[in-house]
Amino acid sequence: MASIQQGPNGPVLVLKESALQQKGKDAQQNNIAAAKLVAELVKSSLGPRGLDKMLVDSLGDVTITNDGATILKEIDVQHPAAKMIVEISKTVDNEVGDGTTSSVVFGGALLARAEDLLKKDVHSSTIVDGFQAAADKTLEIYSQLAKKVLPDDRESLMKIATTSMQSKLISEDSGILSKIVVDAILSIATKKGDVYSVDLENIKVEKKSGGSIQDTQIVKGIVLDKEIVHSGMPTKIENAHIALINSALEIEKTEMSSEIRITDPTQMQMFLEEENRMIKSMVDKLHDVGANVLICQKGIDDIAQHYLAKYGIMAVRRVKESDMIKLSKATGGRVISNLDDLSENDLGSAKLAHQKKVESDKWVFIEGCKHPQSVTMLIRGGSQRVIDEVDRSIHDSLMVVKDVVQKPEIVAGGGAPEAYAASLLKDWADNFDGKEQLAIKKYAEALEVIPLTIAENAGMDPIDTMANLRAKQNQGRKWTGIDARNTQIADMMAINVIEPIAVKEQIIKSATEAACMILRIDDVIATSGAPG
Ligand code: ADP
Repeated sequence: MASIQQGPNGPVLVLKESALQQKGKDAQQNNIAAAKLVAELVKSSLGPRGLDKMLVDSLGDVTITNDGATILKEIDVQHPAAKMIVEISKTVDNEVGDGTTSSVVFGGALLARAEDLLKKDVHSSTIVDGFQAAADKTLEIYSQLAKKVLPDDRESLMKIATTSMQSKLISEDSGILSKIVVDAILSIATKKGDVYSVDLENIKVEKKSGGSIQDTQIVKGIVLDKEIVHSGMPTKIENAHIALINSALEIEKTEMSSEIRITDPTQMQMFLEEENRMIKSMVDKLHDVGANVLICQKGIDDIAQHYLAKYGIMAVRRVKESDMIKLSKATGGRVISNLDDLSENDLGSAKLAHQKKVESDKWVFIEGCKHPQSVTMLIRGGSQRVIDEVDRSIHDSLMVVKDVVQKPEIVAGGGAPEAYAASLLKDWADNFDGKEQLAIKKYAEALEVIPLTIAENAGMDPIDTMANLRAKQNQGRKWTGIDARNTQIADMMAINVIEPIAVKEQIIKSATEAACMILRIDDVIATSGAPG
């Protein structure tokens, strides 16, 4: 559709002939419909009784997951407003790691309520103002509601990790896995004053199919999915002095092709001996500085392997750069490019370097490192698909435990805080006039969609359940929520369904932001070919 405006000298063509334009209510309605559809898509996977999705990509690869962010990452969303909803799940995932499904469901619920108001001729700016005021108030309510815990309180952290696993494939194994997750986070957490910080980069994840999820373990150190290069080398070294080299232990090939003319067999012999001598001097250097383990980012040739084995040095080659960096951090060693520069001070140290069988492979484990702030999580499971989902769920769990260690405040789950905030918001809305009051009340209704959906997904009657829940909360039992496992309402704090306040806050912020952004749009202009 071309857009023609009248200028002083006649009509002016503002948009190209082929541009598509949707204005006002049409644009808003389409955007809201698209965003609601995305929310509808993930709704049935919310909560511990939510169902999984099987996603099949164009190559036929299958992903089975219950994680909102993963579902939305895999599906190819076309509509621009729908894409904005997908963005919410990404932001929440990056910031706090959990709460992705909730934020999308809540975002969709906000837009559905906004649609009701638009139909009643409430202007979108009024709705946006009301929603934003309600969001600020909700955050205030949450912060008063939250319970403070100690950042290194293992028991609370375990409950947090277990709750995040409840809705996942791994819920059966959450006992073992949450212990591993909490161990991992507490061993890498660093303290400055009273504040802890956690860098998840310090946790290396290795996956190996075979065994069961219960065989997943944490290694306080680094695991390399490589085997020792030579069978004559020791497979176990205690008190390891580790050289980290990022150049090859080989005679370098020249860039240009050159020719050496040899006229006499002794010259040939000398040539080979010289090569041998050069390689031996490299290995001698390692031996002289006292290295008994060599981790090399590049290749190690046969002659070097032979001499290394003779000296009893354990060597691993072609290690990933990211692993070299992790090893450097963990062992306190320095990654050296030129062997001539290597000195004793550059060596890292660890209590034990050894090769262990993992299924049919042999991997090298570097344990008891100088700085214990590096751990490896060795994820196991029956098949690659299971392992991938375990990996995603463990990531979410690591994130929520990290959230609490960094901001040690918690709330109960199962929709309790949402229902609580909704009821206070409804009362608070009475302070406002007219249409803004309506918008705030609608915001409260949208918050209730979280407990409502958890109940619905558990097969409970949503209306009765919500009525009972409200009644219990009004009697002062603020942690009353949906106990989806036993299909009843319960004190969620008492049954240990606990979440970080950081997750709840992020859900509010991201979903409100996206919903308001979509509501502010009253004009969609697409060049030809773009989805409308
Ligand atoms: P998200 O991606 O939003 O984390 P989930 O599918 O993991 O979505 O569901 C999380 C919701 O399920 C949270 O509101 C959480 O409090 C709730 N939840 C977790 N465990 C239970 C439980 N046992 N009973 C009821 N609700 C639970």
